Amino acid sequence: MKKMKLSPSVFAADLGELKNQIKQLEDSNVELLHVDVMDGHFVERMAFGADHIRMLKNMTDIPLDVHLMIENPEVHIDSIVDAGADVITIHQESTTRILSCLHKIHNRGIKAGIVLSPATPEETIKYLLDDIDMILLMSVNPGEGGQHFLSSTVDKIKNVSTLIGDRDIDIEVDGSIDDETIKPCYEAGANVFVSGGYLFKNIKDNTEALRKAVKG
Ligand code: ZN
Repeated sequence: MKKMKLSPSVFAADLGELKNQIKQLEDSNVELLHVDVMDGHFVERMAFGADHIRMLKNMTDIPLDVHLMIENPEVHIDSIVDAGADVITIHQESTTRILSCLHKIHNRGIKAGIVLSPATPEETIKYLLDDIDMILLMSVNPGEGGQHFLSSTVDKIKNVSTLIGDRDIDIEVDGSIDDETIKPCYEAGANVFVSGGYLFKNIKDNTEALRKAVKG
């Protein structure tokens, strides 16, 4: 099995306590920091642009895992890379130029990934497997709060895992990940876990609980 990685979502952080919370994430050795970029069009909410990513980059060495929930991602790739992203994932549903976006990200020397919303069939990634480092599966509807984990995600992870075979591609899950939902996802083949509300409730204890849950 691939190495398990945690990618806490900054969207769930207490921005007034951000410095302190990032220090706690560093102390808990999280592997990535997940940054949701939302434009108010592709998803209802708005959050974090290139300036915020630059600010985070100046605060920490944790690699930044930037999830673009925006229309026309091609327009923003350069500024997001310049700001310090280490991985950029883009939604399959957000552009008709998905391949050129992936190439644009790779040409800038960082990792690229594709995101599937819950209703987007996994078969569609078949044609992109040689152009991605990561597949992000949404386990809730993107950009909406207070949702439950969609159990259909587990089958989707299994199917994606079969599709990618022995390629070196991370499978990331985003949405309502806690110490109960993480285990079936890990067993199905996912290895990168975005956690928001659950993890930030108690960074030290809950990062430990998440790591323990996949082992138990
Ligand atoms: Zn996300």
